[in-house]
Amino acid sequence: SIILGIESSCDDTSAAVIKGNRILSNIAASQTIHNEYGGVVPELASRAHQQNIIPVIHQSLTKANIQQNEISAIGFTRGPGLLGSLLVGTSFAKSLAMSLDVPLIEVNHLQAHILAHFIEDANPVPPKFPFLCLTVSGGHTMIVLVEDYFDMKIIGKTIDDAAGEAFDKIGKLFGLDYPAGPIVDKLAKTGDPNVFTFSKPKMDGYDYSFSGVKTSVLYFIQKELKKNPEFISENLNDLCASVQKTITETLMLKLEKAAAEYQISEVAIAGGVSANSGLREAMLTNKEKLGWNIYIPKFEYTTDNAAMIAMVAQLKYERGEFSDLSVSASARYDLEESFTK
Ligand code: ATP
Ligand code: FE
Repeated sequence: SIILGIESSCDDTSAAVIKGNRILSNIAASQTIHNEYGGVVPELASRAHQQNIIPVIHQSLTKANIQQNEISAIGFTRGPGLLGSLLVGTSFAKSLAMSLDVPLIEVNHLQAHILAHFIEDANPVPPKFPFLCLTVSGGHTMIVLVEDYFDMKIIGKTIDDAAGEAFDKIGKLFGLDYPAGPIVDKLAKTGDPNVFTFSKPKMDGYDYSFSGVKTSVLYFIQKELKKNPEFISENLNDLCASVQKTITETLMLKLEKAAAEYQISEVAIAGGVSANSGLREAMLTNKEKLGWNIYIPKFEYTTDNAAMIAMVAQLKYERGEFSDLSVSASARYDLEESFTK
């Protein structure tokens, strides 16, 4: 069946059309207005979604070359995310489902980041259950044990900042625009990761903590800037490479521990930070070193996109899991909460 997916949880308005597990179109309007503010401004995001949503959906249908009456269901992001942003997608999805008289399907954004791996062209082959999925994004960092499409357990998570948030906040200390993650990645490519050493958080079990890394970078650069006001610009690439190394090594350490203790060698990464080249390299190293079967999603399915929403909606459609028109957006919506029904 053909399903339209709508994503509006943060600052990207996106719409995608899926047929089976093949993406026919995946359109996104990114909001650049937040760059100068150093972060997403909720009111501006909501307004931009309102402006973008109709053209984005229109483009996605046109690109997919389908008519409205060919759509079998509408999938939308119910949460988690910014309430004002989610509301735009939710209301639009509801009215469209009503007017086309097709089922409405709510999707958990985090489940979608993970199940993006089942989009036909996300990987050469999809992961096999059970697999571990390091889910790393702007708002979340967790190791998820994925037993099935609708059976997932969080075995470790961050107690403070998310990995993407750490990249963004540390990049901001270096004077980089929001979101700094991709810029740090790019600058790190020509930097030496061994020039600076930042202490890695020591956490029990599979949990993470990233606020300490940010603080240690802050104190370090404050100290150096007193000696040399040009310290950051003269060392930017090495700083970025060193920070990237610290974050990715921290992420991989717990993932390796989980893989060993759960005796699972099917290992995936998902979410915006899974676009990071340092993290991707570390996964490739473990494929060689530890014999992992690794799953790294195609670039366009890492950061927020509606293709992943359409993918989950398709799986729910097959199971007949539809939403009531009274469903509301949920700013807080845990991954595990979405499996309770
Ligand atoms: P969540 O999914 O937790 O609700 P989100 O939807 O805002 O949060 P994503 O769109 O999945 O997050 O990811 C965005 C984050 O990924 C940002 O923090 C961004 O800096 C980071 N990111 C994107 N590309 C890279 C990269 N190449 N290297 C490091 N970080 C990156
Ligand atoms: Fe996301």
